[in-house]
Amino acid sequence: MPNTTILEEKKTSRGDGDIPRGAYIHIPFCRRRCYYCDFPISVTGDGRNGTNFNAIAEYTDILCQEIEITPKDRYKLETLFFGGGTPSLLSVPQLEQILVTLERCFGIDSHAEISMEVDPGTFTQSQVQGYRDLGVNRFSLGVQAFQDELLQRCGRSHRVQDIFTAIDLLRQIEADNISLDLISGLPEQTLPQWQFSLNSACDLSPEHLSCYDLVLEPVTAFGKQFQPGESPLPSDEHTAQMYRMAQETLTQNGLEHYEISNYGKAGFQCRHNRLYWENRSYYGFGMGAASYTQNRRFTRPRTRKDYYTWVQKGAKIESPELSERDRLLETLMLGLRLADGIQLEQFNPDIARAIAAAIEPYYQKGWLVCLNSQNEPLSVSHYLASSHCGKLRLSDPEGFLFSNTILTAFFEQFDDN
Ligand code: SF4
Repeated sequence: MPNTTILEEKKTSRGDGDIPRGAYIHIPFCRRRCYYCDFPISVTGDGRNGTNFNAIAEYTDILCQEIEITPKDRYKLETLFFGGGTPSLLSVPQLEQILVTLERCFGIDSHAEISMEVDPGTFTQSQVQGYRDLGVNRFSLGVQAFQDELLQRCGRSHRVQDIFTAIDLLRQIEADNISLDLISGLPEQTLPQWQFSLNSACDLSPEHLSCYDLVLEPVTAFGKQFQPGESPLPSDEHTAQMYRMAQETLTQNGLEHYEISNYGKAGFQCRHNRLYWENRSYYGFGMGAASYTQNRRFTRPRTRKDYYTWVQKGAKIESPELSERDRLLETLMLGLRLADGIQLEQFNPDIARAIAAAIEPYYQKGWLVCLNSQNEPLSVSHYLASSHCGKLRLSDPEGFLFSNTILTAFFEQFDDN
């Protein structure tokens, strides 16, 4: 790669785009650990929540300490995302304690998107009403599947009936921005079962839906038991088929496929998650939470003991600044996850040419689309002959499906130069 500045100056200067406008807050408690999960969590046991489990109260206090000692910037927070774990194990006063701390330390914009992950079977109507009264305006429900046998097979603590009860409770409090999570590629999951889960999810009319393909993490129960693509997991061909089924079913039901794994009705894309895909800065708070501030990515300690010690020692972010090459690859890797793709003019012409060389074979397969500034399709050779304006995006569903192959080609291209 030529020794020139990779990203055009206007995009890389430490302007407004580099100041965090969003925060991820990790609530690391779950009733039990699902067999596929390697997230940093503590298991509480069934029936435990923030009102009867001292560990959650203690964690809330320390999390607020971290927020208090984090250096502030000049913007109010425009997106908050309470993820987990199971944030719906927090009592309403505990959530209030965190929100009051964030408001006092950073300010929360009056139009902020405040998302909260909630799990079926872990909340009551008065609890979600309390969350809503505090400002939570987007609920993300961990549904995963509509078959009791699959939920049980994954070690989930809820059953199908809990999903319907949870949706009823959320609609009763007039929640008008609900997202559902589904997982494909589960052990013994058949194509008809996956189609049934997609149809059942659509019947609930969610504003947003995320579909994830099971990833086998080595330290998990599934990771120790199974090999990718081998029985009882579906074959690679079947998981690819599941991806295409999701794309077809969900788009036919009025959900726009705006990111590799995410679908939303018009106006309901997740604003917080877009910060990640647009490679913009964000705060992270809590055990195991990742942040991206001042061009540094940092992941907090993954056990409660280590996290508490880190906060008590001043919550210092100690990680190197990203190199220009890393930022380029991240911008490509994250931006191509979006159906909008990446704007090519943000790269200097040498880099844009190197990108074009890397994508040529995949363009021929129809996995990538180049568009000019009027959104008209361009061939790669036209793109090379033009002034590198317009954008590059993966085709849907095939380009999205083979995104890993294309991203590997980018890595190789930029490693070679
Ligand atoms: S509920 Fe979510 S975070 Fe908790 S163990 Fe299951 S997958 Fe992991």
